[in-house]
Amino acid sequence: MVDPDHAAARRRLVDRLRRRVDVSERTLSAIEAVPRHEFVPERSRERAYDDRPLPIGHGQTISAPHMVAVMVDLLDVADGDRVFEVGTGCGYHAAVVAGVVGGGNVYSAEYVPELADEATERLDRLGYDVTVETGDGRDAFDGVGPFDAAYLTCASTDGVPDPIVDATRSGGRVVAPIDDGSASHSGQRLVRLTVRPDGVDREDHGAVRFVPMQ
Ligand code: SAH
Repeated sequence: MVDPDHAAARRRLVDRLRRRVDVSERTLSAIEAVPRHEFVPERSRERAYDDRPLPIGHGQTISAPHMVAVMVDLLDVADGDRVFEVGTGCGYHAAVVAGVVGGGNVYSAEYVPELADEATERLDRLGYDVTVETGDGRDAFDGVGPFDAAYLTCASTDGVPDPIVDATRSGGRVVAPIDDGSASHSGQRLVRLTVRPDGVDREDHGAVRFVPMQ
C-alpha cells in the first residue's frame, strides 16, 4: 500500500496507543502529527510506527511511542507553557511536546554533540521551533527558566538533578526516569515531581528502561 507520508501508519499507531495507555486526546493528536519516520535512521524507517524503541546511533535510542505519550501526558502542559527537556536525542520527543505547547516554547539539552547537531538540523527542516543546546542538561539554559515543566529522557542514579528542579516554577512538574543504582536497568522508575515552595511532591509511575544520564 502506498502511504508516502505515513499518515495511515500514524493513525493506526495512535489507535493502538489509545487502547494501550490512558492519555489525553491532545497528547494523541500531537503524536499523530509528528512524522516519526523522519527522526529514525533510514534502515529503521519501516519500523518507525511500531510501538517500540529504536536505535538512533551513538548508543542512544528513541523511546517507544507509548512511553512518549505517557511522559507528555504527565507533563500536563498546554499551549504557551515553556518546557525544558534533558536528552534531545533525535528530537522526536521534543517535536511532540512542541505540538502541545507551540513553537518557541521547548528548550532541549543534548550531551552528544553529533546528536545535538543532527536534531537541530532535522527539527529546523521539519518546521519545529525547538531550541537545542549542546552539553550537560544540568548546566543548560541557565537564566532561561523558570519552566512550567521539565523532563529527562535519560536515567539519573541520584534523583532528579537539583538544577533541573530549580529551573522549574513552583507548581510545575518534572517527569524523569530514576535509577536506584542496581546493576541491571530493572531498578528504574518513572517519577513525576511537583515542585512546591518547600520541596517536591513525588508520584511513582511504574518501572521503565532508559539510557543512563551522562
Ligand atoms: N528524547 C529523545 C530520547 C533520546 S535518548 C528522542 O526522542 O530521541 C536520551 C538522550 O539523553 C541521549 O541522546 C543522550 O545522549 C542524552 N543524555 C544523556 N545524558 C545527558 C545529559 N547529562 N545532558 C543532556 N543529555 C544527556
